[in-house]
Amino acid sequence: MKAGLSPESDPAQVDGSAEMLIGRFGELWLKGNNRVWFERTLVRNLRDAVRPISRVRAERSRGHVTVHPEQRTADVCRRMLDVFGFSSVSPAWGAPSTPEGIVAAARTCLRQTFARLPSGPPIAFRVRSRRADKGFPLPSNELDRFVADEVLGEFEGRYRIDLSHPELTLGINVQSGRSYVYAQSFRGLGGLPVGSIGKVLCLLSGGIDSPVAAWRAMKRGCQVSFVSFHSYPYVGDSTRLKVKRIAKALMRFERHARLFSVPFTDIQTAIRDHCREDYRTLLYRRMMHRIAERLALSEGAKALVTGDSLGQVASQTLENLACLEGTRRLPILRPLIGMDKEETIEIARRIGTFEASIVDEPDCCTVFQPRHPVLQGRVHACEKAESLLDVEGLVEAALHATETLELPER
Ligand code: ATP
Ligand code: MG
Repeated sequence: MKAGLSPESDPAQVDGSAEMLIGRFGELWLKGNNRVWFERTLVRNLRDAVRPISRVRAERSRGHVTVHPEQRTADVCRRMLDVFGFSSVSPAWGAPSTPEGIVAAARTCLRQTFARLPSGPPIAFRVRSRRADKGFPLPSNELDRFVADEVLGEFEGRYRIDLSHPELTLGINVQSGRSYVYAQSFRGLGGLPVGSIGKVLCLLSGGIDSPVAAWRAMKRGCQVSFVSFHSYPYVGDSTRLKVKRIAKALMRFERHARLFSVPFTDIQTAIRDHCREDYRTLLYRRMMHRIAERLALSEGAKALVTGDSLGQVASQTLENLACLEGTRRLPILRPLIGMDKEETIEIARRIGTFEASIVDEPDCCTVFQPRHPVLQGRVHACEKAESLLDVEGLVEAALHATETLELPER
């Protein structure tokens, strides 16, 4: 890892006594001329994410953001770990860019660190500096040695030097203005700042998959809003509440979203009454896509997102996916298409949607469920079935009755 530290995994261990936090960018570096735009979006997202915790001063510099919280540094750090775009975050201490200034900061940092660590056998330790400022009087390896010689005396018995397998690394980043030192580094989510790529609309069911799909779209810089279809009164209001709970859980990762709730019962009834039974589920899905696209266009969203994964349920065949083409102009993103269910579940647990998703509530697709749903649907059969429906009228009516919820709720 760039910072020369193996990231710690347990955010409960964040050292809240630090003066500031360093949030490092991942691949933002790769974005050439767009870099400034990405960085600004990232800093804006960061400020929004930590607003309920503390006011912060945030400065962008090469490859990282320096964040000075007014209070609750550890909580701010943990919050930063949920902001897409940071590859790692370190609690840090600032120093004037002189060897002596760095030594003083290193001393403070190590005192805090050793005070935090339980006593036991000596910890494998090293100093590792990086110089962004090549005009600094000492080369990196000499600075490493100088700092170690100056500060380690008071920690006799608590460390042993091990350059190749350190358990604890004192990181030093030398810059032309102010430098900083740190001893902890937490892995961030990586990805791109939410909103830096554009808006999308995710078809959010109450299942495990679509929330993970939404999260993965966020990770690639999409600002995600949600649309959910429900068949009240065939399916009770608890399903709607469940979807709302899931959407709210996802707000940990973005600042703002809309949740559209579309009543779907009339459409399902029309399909039941006029179309062949084995195609029902597929026809529901085609209608969902049509409606979602209309909402997306009105939102300025440039793609739809679904939780489809190939072959995962019997209906997710190539033929059935093909039946969803041609109902819209916007592309469909399917971030889970190549994932196994176990991988999806693991992410769902990590991002905090799993618990809400597994609550057993019926999905609208279970209403008038066919006994033998078609597995290899044909587009022309869908079109033939739909010729018996007033597709446009049904879409319009559903849109008219759609409810919009702004998230986060105020
Ligand atoms: P999920 O776990 O997301 O429910 P799934 O594996 O159950 O997915 P399907 O039920 O075939 O698969 O649904 C495929 C996708 O269609 C879902 O991931 C979701 O994007 C969309 N979808 C299905 N039902 C609804 C609904 N009631 N409202 C909104 N979107 C839906
Ligand atoms: Mg489902």
